[in-house]
Amino acid sequence: MNLETNMKNTWCPGCGHFSILAAAKQAINEIVEEGVKPENIVIASGIGCHAKIVDYINVNSFYSIHGRVPPTLTGMKIANPELTAIGFAGDGDGYGEGLAHLIFAAKRNVNITMIMHNNRIYGLTTGQFSPTTPEGMRTKSSPVGNPEFPLNPIKLMIASGATFVARCSSFDIKNLKETIKEAVNHKGFSIVDVIEPCISFFNSTKYLKENIYKMEGHDPTNEIEAMKKASEWNYTLEGKIPIGIFYKVDKPTYDELLLKGRNPKTMK
Ligand code: SF4
Ligand code: MG
Repeated sequence: MNLETNMKNTWCPGCGHFSILAAAKQAINEIVEEGVKPENIVIASGIGCHAKIVDYINVNSFYSIHGRVPPTLTGMKIANPELTAIGFAGDGDGYGEGLAHLIFAAKRNVNITMIMHNNRIYGLTTGQFSPTTPEGMRTKSSPVGNPEFPLNPIKLMIASGATFVARCSSFDIKNLKETIKEAVNHKGFSIVDVIEPCISFFNSTKYLKENIYKMEGHDPTNEIEAMKKASEWNYTLEGKIPIGIFYKVDKPTYDELLLKGRNPKTMK
């Protein structure tokens, strides 16, 4: 399936978003080959450099507003449960502006997927610290060093009720594609936190390339183990960074419970 559009790509050369775009297109193509109708796929984005991704993939798409991708997809999914709904958000967008929406989508276990472009900086507005920027880092909005400690979204999402929580890196497109596919095929709220550099305002390439490793032997059905694994790296600029699926369990989804409840035949 040809997913190309005629829109000019305006991301900076080397931006991690290119890898997410490539992996997402490959994943969508494979999902279609496996039987999902292209007209039943919808993607949405928030606000930020990441958001342009909806212009670069030729499927049904929606530019939402800052931080509001989860409720946008929730509405779509409830209105049409046949949809495969995939959201894209940035770290400032999803973990800052719209954090409560992300938490409630996880709590409700809505059957949607969120792909987080986590370059740990506000890129579009030229380099202010975000919720995942390392403590002490000098940015345009923290000229003497970021006075805040970074959020660990993996731990937060597990604690909030997400039933599929993974971390990937923009430097391994194959692994990213496979993880996106698994997240989309998961029934329930799935989130993939993609660690990537912002070439222009936080070029973390060297540190990421030297420290990312794939988890092996981890049991993703064990919540305590998932939390322990997620605590190995707290979004600093030190230590090894585990990549893979931290947590994956089955639980009834919000959309199916809601629709069941709305069906008079199944209401008590
Ligand atoms: Fe990518 Fe950063 Fe350039 Fe935005 S500013 S396109 S996030 S490299
Ligand atoms: Mg960002």
